[in-house]
Amino acid sequence: MTTNTRLIELEDRLRKLDDACDYPAKERFLQWYGPELRDLRDTDATENPTQYKTFCCTHCGSTNVGRDAFAHWNPILGDDELLTVYDDTTCLDCDRECSTYERTLSVRELEALQK
Ligand SMILES: [Zn+2]
Repeated sequence: MTTNTRLIELEDRLRKLDDACDYPAKERFLQWYGPELRDLRDTDATENPTQYKTFCCTHCGSTNVGRDAFAHWNPILGDDELLTVYDDTTCLDCDRECSTYERTLSVRELEALQK
């Protein structure tokens, strides 16, 4: 099994757990396969370099993380204007406050985001 095939297999299994919203099973999956998945993603990103970075939840590895921010209404723009982004981060998948680690998006992930 090639690195690429294994990465696709693990990503598919992770996506199915996400689709089923089975977060306990996802957490168990990431405890077991997380280090291998991280290595495969790093290898994939190295073999398919992009300039795009993402941030991942340290609990579950998800890139679906959000940061606290402060915005106010700008009457000239007629819209809310982002003033500050704070350090506090929340994972929207495992629903916990988290730290993040940075990694490069693979070409496959980038293509999925652009759909
Ligand atoms: Zn998480």
